[in-house]
Amino acid sequence: MLLLLFVLPFYDDSVRIRHSGATDSKWSHSDQKHWPSECTGDRQSPINIDKPDAIPRTCNGPRCEVKPILLRNYWRRFKTAPHLINKGYTVSMNIPEVMCGKKPHITGALLKGNYIAEELHFHWGSANSNGAEHTINHRRYKAEMHIVHRRDKNDTSYNGDGDELAVLAIFLEKGNVTHGLSKLFDKMTLVRAYHTETEMCPTCSLWRLLGYIHTKSFYTYRGSLTTPGCHETVSWIVLKRPMRVSPSLLSYLWNLRNEKGARIHDNYRREQPVNHRDVISFGGE
Ligand SMILES: [Zn+2]
Repeated sequence: MLLLLFVLPFYDDSVRIRHSGATDSKWSHSDQKHWPSECTGDRQSPINIDKPDAIPRTCNGPRCEVKPILLRNYWRRFKTAPHLINKGYTVSMNIPEVMCGKKPHITGALLKGNYIAEELHFHWGSANSNGAEHTINHRRYKAEMHIVHRRDKNDTSYNGDGDELAVLAIFLEKGNVTHGLSKLFDKMTLVRAYHTETEMCPTCSLWRLLGYIHTKSFYTYRGSLTTPGCHETVSWIVLKRPMRVSPSLLSYLWNLRNEKGARIHDNYRREQPVNHRDVISFGGE
């Protein structure tokens, strides 16, 4: 009996996690206590970034430890239209090749080579809560966009000790100024239902869809994916300056639905311990 009492609540939870995940996942943001054991490593993400604890770095020459970020091919037109997809726990857009046959990619920060853009997605709260993943001095922004890049296997300058992924994290904040992001957010009304998708404009570039990305100042540290399996192979680059998005556009995020038809909300992972990691601050505010 004692055994049964112990087992039943756990079994209930595991069933719920399985069902809530449906085809995309076997976990849920509302049940982070039960994420798998690989999510308990010592370099997990997201973290709170305490400004006074961040190590300041500048770069005035070619041999700096931390370099300015360079975005390459972000302004070139796509060869095929990207697709925006409602995945039930986020909304995601793939990043196709551009006209010259290459893909947008980034270098700089602590990265040892080129990292190729694969997809972007969002984390948010709700109409009444903020939902960025990283916090700055425990302040949480409204939402956070992640542009996921994978190490370029053909990059001969790579010296072997870098992470598999580099994620550019951009905070979204309410504001009157709406940059290019409106082109992307407008399409979210077409993917409100679970597993629906729509084509973005075929002649767009990432720049046109996202607007100006202020890369001159950022925090960088080595962490993990923020969803299971939480692989500890991500170089995080968290831009200091948020993008402003109008409240009406932000509300499109809060109206997206999961596989049960319920609103997707608070799809961010809770703060993880920094442990002994260095968080580097590059550039001013
Ligand atoms: Zn993410």
